[in-house]
Amino acid sequence: MTVAALFSLVAACSSRALRSGEHGSRPGPSTDGNAAVALGPTPAHAGPLDDRVSADDLDALWQRQLIVPVEGVPRGSLRDNFTAKRAVGIHGALDILAPRYSAVVASDNLVIGRLFSGPVGGIVIYASDPERRFVYYYAHLERYRKGLAVGDRVAKGSVIGYVGTTGNAPPDTPHLHFQVMKRGVGRAWWDGPAINPFSFFALEALRP
Ligand SMILES: [Zn+2]
Repeated sequence: MTVAALFSLVAACSSRALRSGEHGSRPGPSTDGNAAVALGPTPAHAGPLDDRVSADDLDALWQRQLIVPVEGVPRGSLRDNFTAKRAVGIHGALDILAPRYSAVVASDNLVIGRLFSGPVGGIVIYASDPERRFVYYYAHLERYRKGLAVGDRVAKGSVIGYVGTTGNAPPDTPHLHFQVMKRGVGRAWWDGPAINPFSFFALEALRP
């Protein structure tokens, strides 16, 4: 092989490598529909933060790329009522106003952990992310999606229930009470310290 031929072979190889590098840097086809968002830095937490929640927890929550859990509600219309006063202290959750029967969607890839009905939250869902680091609580549902059961794995954005006024919600103000917690340690897993999700939605469920 001549020096000139060797040189052109090396040149051909490096231009192929460059091309494949270019292809590799483009976002590939998404396998789960949730990988296309370019995330900025972790947002600051709004309101008081329990000392059991670390900066590392907030980074991890941001990386989950949460979706607004009510279909048709844009992020810009959310109100931060995390610190609103309630009978038991601060609210510690977001109330998301929406018409009755609006679809409530999985804010993350979920493992359904507890389905419960009581006088305060009404018809509720407790669920975890797949690594069981966070807990998501959905309350005042009109009803569950048909067939929803404890142990189900639900993909982010899938319908899990419908907005209503069960429990102590005012009958004329249908809304989703949505709470994010770090998983409880040394107590019930669904009773951990609350994190304000207001700034932590990376995605929206805007399909009508
Ligand atoms: Zn609430």
